[in-house]
Amino acid sequence: MTDSAVVNLLDLDQEGLVAFCEQLGEKRFRAVQLLRWIHQRGVADFGQMSDLAKVLRDKLAGRAIVAAPPVLSQHESKDGTIKWLFDVGGGNAIETVYIPEDDRGTLCISSQAGCAVGCRFCSTGHQGFSRNLTTGEIVAQLWFAEHFLRRHLKRDERVITNVVMMGMGEPLQNYARVLPALRLMLDDQAYGLSRRRVTVSTSGVVPMIDRLAQDCPVALAVSLHAPDDALRDQLVPLNRKHPIDELLATCVAYLEHAPRDFITFEYVMLDGVNDGPDQARALVERVRAHPGLRCKFNLIPFNPFPASGLVRSPDARVQAFARILNQAGFVTTVRKTRGDDIDAACGQLAGDVQDRTRVHERMAGRDTIVVRRTRAARPTKEVS
Ligand code: SAH
Ligand code: SF4
Repeated sequence: MTDSAVVNLLDLDQEGLVAFCEQLGEKRFRAVQLLRWIHQRGVADFGQMSDLAKVLRDKLAGRAIVAAPPVLSQHESKDGTIKWLFDVGGGNAIETVYIPEDDRGTLCISSQAGCAVGCRFCSTGHQGFSRNLTTGEIVAQLWFAEHFLRRHLKRDERVITNVVMMGMGEPLQNYARVLPALRLMLDDQAYGLSRRRVTVSTSGVVPMIDRLAQDCPVALAVSLHAPDDALRDQLVPLNRKHPIDELLATCVAYLEHAPRDFITFEYVMLDGVNDGPDQARALVERVRAHPGLRCKFNLIPFNPFPASGLVRSPDARVQAFARILNQAGFVTTVRKTRGDDIDAACGQLAGDVQDRTRVHERMAGRDTIVVRRTRAARPTKEVS
């Protein structure tokens, strides 16, 4: 948004656009036309919106824009994964990653610049909280990526079939801006994604999980990472406020509304910290203590960064842990790492994108990106 009178239409869901059109003295159906032009066709220039009256187009040109944050860099991996860094101003950069698979295209998006939760294994957490993203900045990641990819891959139809809020930030600590963004993702006049294909990942903001169940139940991933409160308090400080049993009880309640009949538990595998067989068994007991808690586990190999002091669990230990969960009847997958060659896997970026001006050379001179005063662009991930 360039000045206070100018509205970035990416900030508005259908309801917001209707209100905006009414303010302009326009009919409600104009909102639907605008949604389609912007989100389905990727058009930012009001002059091209041919079924809008010229008077309205002129009015819009003075009052509104459709704008994504500038792209600081783009990297494409050998495996087709593409990572963008967007400049959201004030020295902050956020990260978005596209992960193609045979039967789907997943976009991993950020919800905050930095994060206040401060998980020990997470580089965003280490760098602290800068600010909440606006709805427009959240939606812009999808808007930009979808329309870029259609051109890039020369496809007419939808490229992104799934969205996961697993980039930088805790989405449920930015609920007011995330909610309209989710609504746009689901809106048939915009992206039309099914609820099952939009996933919010949370470290466990219990009251907001309840709110999400009421307002906009989408697929839910919960970052668990430990079988007991003593350890989880250390790894995910939010646990001191909302301990495991409270979180798991909330997950059971969420299932009443959820579009999928299970919750995904994410569990980052940290060598010698949370990856032992006893801990796997304790996890099984913990979950079983909550009847009706249907869930799957997704074990994430830890992506180390220098300040963490933590180490990735060896494969054999990850497999042994997975076996215990599987044998107990819980579907368990081990996340495969994608986009390694462009540092697009969880936790890989922020370790070397620091809060200062620098030219950031990666990949042994294969490409050079300029990152200006950025901070904390972080993990993204491979998707369940
Ligand atoms: N704040 C939300 C969503 C963003 S983090 C949450 O915590 O769920 C998305 C996922 O990336 C979380 O499951 C988190 O545990 C994981 N993650 C963070 N840092 C990581 C790292 N260094 N290696 C592997 N996974 C990491
Ligand atoms: Fe925040 Fe999620 Fe990182 Fe924890 S893992 S610090 S909640 S982004």
